This record gives sequence, C-alpha cells and structure tokens, in this order.
Amino acid sequence: ILLFNSLSRRKEEFKPVKPGLALVYTCGPTVYDYAHIGNLRSFIFADILVRTLRYNGYKTVWTMNITDIDDKTIAASRKKYPDLTPKTALRKFTREYERYFWQDLKKLNVTKPDHTPRATETIKEMQEMILSIMEKGLAYEQDGSIYFDLKRYAEKYRYGTLADVDLSQIKAGARVDADEYSKKNINDFVLWKAKKPGEPSWNFEIKGRNFPGRPGWHIECSAMSKKFLGIPFDIHTGGTDLKFPHHEDELAQTSAACGCSLPVKYWLHNEHLLVEGNKMSKSLGNFFTIRDLEKKGHNPLAFRLLCLQSHYRSKMNFTWSGLQSAEKGLENLQTSIQRLSQEGGRSSLRKISKDAIGYREEFLRKINDDLNIPAALALAQRLIKANIPAVEKLALLLEFDEVFGLGFSSFAKRLKIPKEVRQLAERRLNLRKEGKWEEADRLRERIRRLGYEIEDRADGYFLKKAN
Ligand code: AMP
Ligand code: ZN
Repeated sequence: ILLFNSLSRRKEEFKPVKPGLALVYTCGPTVYDYAHIGNLRSFIFADILVRTLRYNGYKTVWTMNITDIDDKTIAASRKKYPDLTPKTALRKFTREYERYFWQDLKKLNVTKPDHTPRATETIKEMQEMILSIMEKGLAYEQDGSIYFDLKRYAEKYRYGTLADVDLSQIKAGARVDADEYSKKNINDFVLWKAKKPGEPSWNFEIKGRNFPGRPGWHIECSAMSKKFLGIPFDIHTGGTDLKFPHHEDELAQTSAACGCSLPVKYWLHNEHLLVEGNKMSKSLGNFFTIRDLEKKGHNPLAFRLLCLQSHYRSKMNFTWSGLQSAEKGLENLQTSIQRLSQEGGRSSLRKISKDAIGYREEFLRKINDDLNIPAALALAQRLIKANIPAVEKLALLLEFDEVFGLGFSSFAKRLKIPKEVRQLAERRLNLRKEGKWEEADRLRERIRRLGYEIEDRADGYFLKKAN
C-alpha cells in the first residue's frame, strides 16, 4: 500500500510497526456545534483509509478523540448554560453535540472507531505526559501555566517538518496561550493553562504544588494516541489545516515525552472542502451540515459518494448541483445492483472467472495507490458493463463496497415483487417469445399501474419500482 506521507512529502510504502496490525489515530471533532460537511469529509477519508487497510487483511485499531474542552467549547457552553457550574455546563453542552456527531457518522456509513476517548476523561494521562516533558527540561512554568520550550526542543529535534516553518522565527521565552495560532506566531505553546475565573479546571500537582487549570488542545491528542495506540504508532490523520500548529506541536510533545524523533510513522492529511473557492468553515459562516442536506431532501450517502469522487488530497468544491449529480449516480448504482441481483439471483457463485479476478486485482491496485478511490469507482462502473456473469459482478461489487461503504448490500436485497406483478411479467415474457407484441405492451401497462416498471433484457426482464 502506498500512502502519501506529509513528513516526507512523497508516497511511501506502508510498513506497520507490528506485522499485520495497523494503528491509526484521527483528530476528532471539537464538539461545540454540529459538524459541517467539510469536517465530515475528513472523517469519510479516515474511514476509507481504515477500510482499505482492512480490505488488505490488516487488523486495525482506530482511535478518534472527542475534543470536549478547548477555548471554543468553554466559551459556547458558558453562553448556553450561564447558570450551571463551568464543568457541568461544559459536559451537558458537549455531550449533546457529540451525540449529533455520531448520528452524522452513522448516516454517512463511517465505521465507529475502536476507541473514542473524550479529552476531559484523559486529563490524568495528559498530566503524566506534561510531567515527563518537564523532566526532560523541555517545559517550564510561568504564572501558573506550563509552556513547551520550543527553542530548547529545536536544539535536539527537528521542529517544522510537517508544516515547513521557519525555525529562525522561534523567539526564546515568547509565549502563546491560544489553541489556534498562525505561523507568524512560532512561540512557546501552552501545555497546561492556569485556571481562569468561570472556566472548568482540574488540580495538577507538580512537586508538591498545585496548578489548577486545564489542558491545552495539542497535548490532548498526544496523550490519547499514546494511551490507546502506544508509541510509536502507524498513521495519524486530519485535515491539512491541522498540520500547523496542532500536528507540529503534537509531534514535538510526543517526541519530547518519549525521547524519540519518530513517534508516528505516517501523517496523512486530507484537503479541504471549499465553497466558492473558500475553505468551508464555521468562522466564515459558509457551511452546511448533514441536516441542511437532509432538509433539501438529499440522502447523506450521496454526499459520501461525492467525497469518494475526489481524491482526498485534492480540494473539492461543494455545489448543490454536484450533490444532485452524486445523488443521481447513487440511484444509478442502486438500480444496477438491483438488476444484477435479479439477473444473477438464482445462480450462486462457485468459481470466479479469470476476467473477474482481473477486476479484483485492478481494484486493489487503485485503492492501494494512495487511496485512489475515484479510479476505483470508475472501475466499478466498467465492471457493471463488463461481459462477465451477473453473479460474479454482484459478488465483486459487494466486495468493493467493503471499501466504498455506500450500502451496496442493502441495494442488493432482492426487491420484494408482489406475486401478481411477477405472474404478469412471466406471462408477458411468454407473449414476447411468441411475438405477440401488442398484448405484451398491454401487460406492461398493467404492471405499471401496479407500481412497477419492466425493462426487457435479451434473456428475460428486469423489474423495478416505478418512480
Ligand atoms: P474540528 O472539529 O474543527 O477540530 O475539525 C475536525 C476535522 O475537520 C479536522 O481534521 C479538520 O482539519 C477538518 N476540516 C475542517 N474544515 C474542513 C474543510 N473545509 N474541509 C475538509 N476538512 C476540514
Ligand atoms: Zn488532534
């Protein structure tokens, strides 16, 4: 399997830390609002990655964190529940959006990760990690907060591999407290923030002194990936905007704590979903949620297909007409699969032909070339038209759908056709064989009035529900 590694900026062959096992970490959602479909693109991408690894026979352990504490969740929860204590407000508020998030992933057929830890439930591990960074002399205390010492870190390790930052900009002792900041701000970032009035806080004992406060955003992912995957692990994913500062700082923290320079072997980043040329984001207000799509009558899986039609490292422009086409594409796939399951329904797959094996090999080559799903989808379309038995086509499509996750097996469930319609169709088939076209046409009308369309095939017919 070739994967594009943001560390080396080239495709590399996937070699796991432990043979046969793939350890994957995905930066999960910050649960202060509904996820927008740009966010969801990043989770669909991670799902495709995990499915591809499984298709290749790897056992996978997939961890995705839930950021239920950061600047944004705190501010929004205080606003919504001003009368509750900060911790209770935060919990109540974030749990609600977490629930919506899992609902969205389910609608998009994104597999549930094996571990989905919440930041607020991993505070102890974060504190342990901060302590071990301090022991290495790479973090210091200032006004009750703990900061990462970038200057000292950069003397020993490389900082800025993922995001191409200019190390000469690092100013010793200049600090930044915000969770998100720009490349112009390459300062010592915060690991632990001193308690502020009205903010939730936890005790943190360091050498007999208490430092009440809360974790910074980056330490969260370092601690959770270590806890659930161990160090080193294989693959870390997220949107390309997370390269700096989040992943750069995460890499620095984990390296500092473990004393190793390569705690994660492959960093994979998905490109953005755009609206009229701009990144879809909450701050620009140019975003849609799955609920918005559903309100307009769209099937969430049409959005999944739309994402699959672009390579994860390409920017993808969202338009309603694009979604409309994907919806049509999904319907066409559904019809093709229903047709194949009717045609091939009676026979069972005993031995797969050489031609079909060719398609399977081609599929594997495409998905293993840095997840070239658009090409794999095109291959599936070619397969549908190929000159091989329906039963083989169907078997292969269902197999490919282990990666696509578009719900092919639910399409393949044989359409329940009423006995009356089935009998009319059989009678009509006999009439056609006898060349009695006019009578056959009348039966087609009767079938239509019962709510079904009949399509003639060389060797029979295909029934589907009329629109
Ligand atoms: P957040 O909930 O803001 O922490 O973001 C969750 C994930 O969505 C991260 O991996 C982001 O990089 C990713 N993301 C945010 N905006 C977009 C976008 N417009 N297109 C694709 N991914 C995005
Ligand atoms: Zn993260």
